[in-house]
Amino acid sequence: MTILPPKHLLVIAAHPDDIEFGAAGTIALWTAAGARVTFCMVTDGGAGSNKPETDLPGLIRQRQEEQCAAAAILGVQDVRFLGYKDGVLQPTLELRRDLTRVIREIKPDRVMIQDPTMFFAGNYYINHPDHRAAGEAAAYAVFPSAGTRPIFPELLAEGLEPFDPSQMWLMFAVTSETVIDITPHIDQKIEALLCHKSQLGPEVVDMVKGWDRESGKAQGYAYAESFHVMILKEEEQPQTTGTGVSLKPAGDEPKA
Ligand SMILES: [Zn+2]
Repeated sequence: MTILPPKHLLVIAAHPDDIEFGAAGTIALWTAAGARVTFCMVTDGGAGSNKPETDLPGLIRQRQEEQCAAAAILGVQDVRFLGYKDGVLQPTLELRRDLTRVIREIKPDRVMIQDPTMFFAGNYYINHPDHRAAGEAAAYAVFPSAGTRPIFPELLAEGLEPFDPSQMWLMFAVTSETVIDITPHIDQKIEALLCHKSQLGPEVVDMVKGWDRESGKAQGYAYAESFHVMILKEEEQPQTTGTGVSLKPAGDEPKA
């Protein structure tokens, strides 16, 4: 089975650095194949320090710069910041409308989001509530809000007509059946991750490489990222770029 790169991918995530952890290799693969990619960061990242003396407005600016630098390494020029407060995000109608606005503006055929159903990861991590809130609002922006005319009439007043993305990809999903070989792009992924200097250092390299080795193990890939993919409608026009990505279905066991 072959998975084609998207024409235009929209990635929605709660915090600067979330995308680099979960999907940077796949994004680098697709931009190299000619895909356009937009990042939409929901929160301002302003809870990314526990030091009492932290200059929080300065931290927010720094995290935006770090995210733009990471995006550039992955071939992504369009990075948007919605500016919601970090750490207390809720899946409100306001957030859903803001995400619907982005979808109707850029008309992505594929949207990548965080899995709102991921509550715990294994026995060691309580998933950050912002990740679940961003994922829930994003999923409901994809459907039904982006494609339904009477929802958010204020967007029609802005000239934004309904639009339905074809596919929704979930990162760090409860069940990930779709495995993407990112071996040629692992160095790019690590370089992008390390742009987030305010949040992480070289100690993450072994951890993330370990995750990605594990993700590729069953298929024999040195490094891979895995996703849960939802096909919401068939593509109207198949792509003719010939830059397919080899895809093998994952094993039966759902990945934690
Ligand atoms: Zn996060």
